[in-house]
Amino acid sequence: AAAAAAIEVAHLSKVYKTARAVDGISFTVPRGSVTGLLGGNGAGKTTTIAMIMGLVLPSAGRIRVLGCGMPEQRADVLGRINFESPYVDMPSRLTVRQNLTVFGKLYAVPDLAGRIAELAADLDLTEFLDRASGKLSAGQKTRVALAKALINRPELLLLDEPTASLDPDTADWIRSHLESYRKQRGASILLASHNMLEVERMCDRVVIMKRGRIEDDDTPSAIMARYNRATLEDVFL
Ligand code: ATP
Repeated sequence: AAAAAAIEVAHLSKVYKTARAVDGISFTVPRGSVTGLLGGNGAGKTTTIAMIMGLVLPSAGRIRVLGCGMPEQRADVLGRINFESPYVDMPSRLTVRQNLTVFGKLYAVPDLAGRIAELAADLDLTEFLDRASGKLSAGQKTRVALAKALINRPELLLLDEPTASLDPDTADWIRSHLESYRKQRGASILLASHNMLEVERMCDRVVIMKRGRIEDDDTPSAIMARYNRATLEDVFL
């Protein structure tokens, strides 16, 4: 249904042998929103995103993506979503063009050569297209990762700390690019971050995770008003 949320997660858990990584969380990513998933190291953000993508099997709970149950109907929505995670590396010996071609073919992107040229122009990558991906700087690699994530013009984008370890100017550039993509495409974004300022700037809503659970779920301004700096830092311990 068109009115369905971009993502609905209910009572979702992931238990590993040694850790309860995600412990019964429920939240919604409204259509067209940028929803932040905020939390410190080990809070469970990456595991949550991996379950939403269908890369990690939940121990319990339900996930609906663009109105479809997962993983039963995954094939119906996979072409309409994409993700970017630091844990999924691109082969570093392939050129940027080769890497983007592999991912574009996965999604059966029409006029793939044209789409790659368009993304390269948008993301300032034209001069690097025939360079080995592993030889690029951190900022250039992030732009390639973003090109990969946008190659199929996804209506739902899952981003796992897209600006971590970037210098402030590059991080800002990436945020602006994501914001203009969102507006142009009318896309929904789930953005995992441990940067409160980034979340405040980009997100309509924030879900705070701590030790596998949801600590809070509100607008960024309400979150900022409710927590003083000390308690907010406590969230990340
Ligand atoms: P980070 O910012 O460090 O990526 P995160 O919020 O993304 O943190 P997760 O990576 O989801 O957190 O990890 C949540 C917990 O689950 C951690 O305690 C982690 O050690 C554990 N964990 C994650 N993956 C596995 C795995 N494959 N096997 C066992 N434990 C795991």
